[in-house]
Amino acid sequence: MTELELLLDLFKNTERQGPGSPEDTRRALSFVELPSDEQLQVADIGCGSGGQTLTLAEHLSGNITAVDLFPSLLDELNDQVWAKGLENRIQTRSESMENLSFESGSLDLIWSEGAIYNMGFENGIRQWKQYLKPQGYLAVSELTWITPERPAEIEKYWTQEYPEIDTAAIKIRLLEKHGYTLTGYFHLPRESWWEHYYMPLQACFAPFLERQAHTEAARNIVAEHQQEIELFEKYHAYFSYGFYIARNNE
Ligand code: SAH
Repeated sequence: MTELELLLDLFKNTERQGPGSPEDTRRALSFVELPSDEQLQVADIGCGSGGQTLTLAEHLSGNITAVDLFPSLLDELNDQVWAKGLENRIQTRSESMENLSFESGSLDLIWSEGAIYNMGFENGIRQWKQYLKPQGYLAVSELTWITPERPAEIEKYWTQEYPEIDTAAIKIRLLEKHGYTLTGYFHLPRESWWEHYYMPLQACFAPFLERQAHTEAARNIVAEHQQEIELFEKYHAYFSYGFYIARNNE
């Protein structure tokens, strides 16, 4: 099994594959001013198994295209879509966020929770802009320093894992540079990491190791996630996911 396949197996049947909660999704939506219109076109990029996609469908009218690279995650979302009778509102599409097949200027809203880092924040906001209608909205969550300074241990860890990590002021400046106006910002509270992400993930460790017969590769993946969790416990006062909601100027 490749490392990617192992990761997919670790995250099998989890509600979320990153920090966030239905409450955060609703809070971010409160900064989006779109009419209640069945013609709305929304994309949820890097949707994973679609926890936030279902929350969006509850609170928005229109059509949602949920995109992820991995069909197995989309299958999990599709099971829920069918169970809830939402198949005429949510479609899934397996493709890369770096090469999306939306028509230019076709989307009212691009949503992406905990996923834009896969192509980098600046690269993502720059490339995705072409798919937005004029005055369309972008809502993305992104790893963010929430204090001006922080202890060396956590600074070193995150700078190695995600060199683009920065403060909200810098991220907002990038949004402005690429032709967006910020309409809202907040950072995720601790529960969105702990109760909605790390606790359910920790419960997956033992069954995952069992399925994988405790191979070294599987044990390494668990150890990496365990280290991230321990650093979060120690240093969560210094970083979180920032949720950036912005309107396309053109
Ligand atoms: N939005 C979900 C999942 C976040 S995890 C949540 O918050 O729970 C990041 C997601 O991005 C994963 O589902 C992963 O499969 C997806 N992903 C990674 N690289 C991608 C790419 N190049 N194109 C599309 N999706 C990608």
